[in-house]
Amino acid sequence: MVDRINDIWGERTPHARGTTWPARVDQYLEDGINETQVDRWVQSACLLCSNGCGADIAVKDGRMVGIRGRAGDTVNHGRLGPKGLYGSTPWASSPDRLTRPLIRQDGRLVETDWETAMGRIVEVSKGLLEQKGPLSHGFYTSGQLFLEEYYTLAVIGKAGLGTPHMDGNTRLCTATSAAAFKESFGADGQPGSYTDIEHCDAIFLFGHNMPETQTVLWARILDRTRGEDPPRIVCVDPRRTMVALEAERTGGVHLAPRVGTNLALMNGLTRELLANGWIDEAWVQAHTIGLDALRATVEPYTAEEVARICGVEADDVRRAARIFGESNAVLSTVLQGFYQSHQATAASVAVHNLHLLRGQIGRPGSGVLQMNGQPTAQNNRECGADGDLPGFRNWDNPAHVQQLADLWNVDTMTIPHWAPPTHAMQLMSYAETGSIGFLWISATNPAVSMPESARIRKILEGDQCFVIVQDLFLTETAELADVVLPAAGWGEKTGCFTNVNRTVHLSEKAVEPPGEARSDLDIFLAYADAMGFTDNDGAPLIGWRTAEEAFNAWREATRGRPVDYTGLSYDKLRGPSGIPWPVNDEHPDGTDRLYADAVFPTDTDTCETYGHDLLTGGAVTEQEHRALAPAGRAFLKGADYTPPHEEPSEDYPLRYTTGRTVYQFHTRTKTGRARSLHQAAPDAWVELSQVDADRLDIAEGDWVRVESPRGSLEVRARIGQVMQGAVFAPFHYGHWDPDGLAADAEHRLANELTMTVWDPVSKQPYFKTAACRVTKIRDREGPSPAPTTAASAPASVPAGGQAPAPPTGAPTTSQVLGTTPTYALDPSNRRS
Ligand code: SF4
Repeated sequence: MVDRINDIWGERTPHARGTTWPARVDQYLEDGINETQVDRWVQSACLLCSNGCGADIAVKDGRMVGIRGRAGDTVNHGRLGPKGLYGSTPWASSPDRLTRPLIRQDGRLVETDWETAMGRIVEVSKGLLEQKGPLSHGFYTSGQLFLEEYYTLAVIGKAGLGTPHMDGNTRLCTATSAAAFKESFGADGQPGSYTDIEHCDAIFLFGHNMPETQTVLWARILDRTRGEDPPRIVCVDPRRTMVALEAERTGGVHLAPRVGTNLALMNGLTRELLANGWIDEAWVQAHTIGLDALRATVEPYTAEEVARICGVEADDVRRAARIFGESNAVLSTVLQGFYQSHQATAASVAVHNLHLLRGQIGRPGSGVLQMNGQPTAQNNRECGADGDLPGFRNWDNPAHVQQLADLWNVDTMTIPHWAPPTHAMQLMSYAETGSIGFLWISATNPAVSMPESARIRKILEGDQCFVIVQDLFLTETAELADVVLPAAGWGEKTGCFTNVNRTVHLSEKAVEPPGEARSDLDIFLAYADAMGFTDNDGAPLIGWRTAEEAFNAWREATRGRPVDYTGLSYDKLRGPSGIPWPVNDEHPDGTDRLYADAVFPTDTDTCETYGHDLLTGGAVTEQEHRALAPAGRAFLKGADYTPPHEEPSEDYPLRYTTGRTVYQFHTRTKTGRARSLHQAAPDAWVELSQVDADRLDIAEGDWVRVESPRGSLEVRARIGQVMQGAVFAPFHYGHWDPDGLAADAEHRLANELTMTVWDPVSKQPYFKTAACRVTKIRDREGPSPAPTTAASAPASVPAGGQAPAPPTGAPTTSQVLGTTPTYALDPSNRRS
């Protein structure tokens, strides 16, 4: 097999517009194992990004030993990327897996049995309920559990305890995607489809480094741009990513706005469409509401004004707008460059505005993909483990709350709906003061991933809040907990998850989890049993025991809602491909794209929210919404640009931005344990422009200190592709490290520098707008550990980058298992 560390997107299979993307099956098996030795292949989908590639897991002797893509799956047509191939299975056999519960005694985490661990949890939970009530409880989950687990937790939280304090790390990742959908279309739900790639004549990528975050989706785009009648690419990104290079190659445009100025650029593009008459007047009149107000909002944003604010060329703004305005079918994708940046929801809604003005939504090639970062983020949003009500119901609509009360047979007043759900940053503030005294964290690592990480660690290690962590490993967060529960992971349990394209996959259990590890579903069920949650008739509140039963219960919760799963079953999902919702009597085989009829779920009695002012976050009331009478029309909404909260200053003259890179996923819990992925990006770095590096007398590989008013990093410098005045840091690195860097790895957390501020509508924290300064602290010992591929390639490397020196070939399990983690289970861990 080709080395997919070096050849990230694999061989090209070009094809013409309107033709089917050819299949190519990618496969990886551990060294020394060939296909004839595989005992069985078990159906699943990749869990290492939101793309949701259909896959089969190879099992030999009760162990996961490899993976291959499913040729018949509509998501990936058999392909897998480097993370999926090399990162999917090695972690499962890693010697530092958690195999028994841990409980804190005399400041140390010690092994215990399940009865003792759960007994302690229940004792604290019941005590706090009695003393302080349900608002003392908080839950912080993930974008990596299964649908059945989120739904079970949502019912426990909302109908068992009655707490509004629930959120997921999806708040850091895709909250803006959901918020933008709700503001424009009335409810969450991806309008577009990956198949739009096959039909479009232009693709706009807004703050989306797709070549690194969703490698298989980028391969799908490359197979169009290298085929007949290719689409033009427009890239909005402050770094010269592979998207930017493809924009240059296809006659498109690369717009590199100053960090924090996205909305000004979007207002300029919108104004250009209006000024040039590139709008579908009849469609806009029939299917939207808000044109006049939008026109007034964007009027001041001439191309020259945008150039002044954003630092781009006015002609480039006009060229990009012309491509949008003169294309018959535009596909737009959006990700963290917008979601984690200033005025996130307003900028993301502005992408919808462009499509609505052109009447380009709901038909082949004309789609919006507000992407997710994580593989199951969509399910967290659908099921309500993020605080929303399940089934895209409106917490502010009594009829929606009543539907759930009837379904669960509980009192409506038990279900929290008297105020908006608590978002993650607020949840941490409550835990900081002790008003939340019981915080349950599952499958996420906030000690590394949340902004201002020193503050988060202090909250988690303090005595004011009892912290439970359930995870695969003793992560930087788990080591601060009061109780740690060993969880089963992907391939070790059964359940479903839904990708960013609304495609639902069933992931079957392939192997047994190690030791006493249990599925997250079983852990939540054990807590519900021990707490004795019941319905109005005294029957157990949670009426299911298995994942399939939980799925069937969830189906009923979606009946009549936009996110309709009623036509799905485990049996149906055992076919050749995942199936996109809604799936029901009307759409028995699923729905490729939403809004083909141009009817949006904006009716006051249907919508998931009454909406917000995008500038301030002020809520629209039910009466105001009803007065607008949207009746199935989409909203055109705008907002003025305002400068970011923290601008460069004399003390901190550079703009600091963070992000994900191609070989690692999040805080590396899985990918850091795959030898080839780890070696391709083994340590943290920061990227500087050549101009800034020269000015600061910094050379490639020199050690630098990066400081913001909140904290600092000490890492090596890559003289790379960022725009002048900006500094980029990957956010993957905490102090855990398989190569023994732990002792001196305290100063490589990108989030030491980020701010506790968030978008007024989506409440998503801003990871991409802070001010910093950079100083050299010592000379290089060699080049920086940054990859030499993709957007992290050195400025001196030819466009597109070049692969690093070995690793040669694919990783082997023996290599992975030979890596003894230096921060393995150490009971004398960091909390005293
Ligand atoms: S693109 Fe995402 S889902 Fe597909 S193989 Fe890569 S990491 Fe997995």
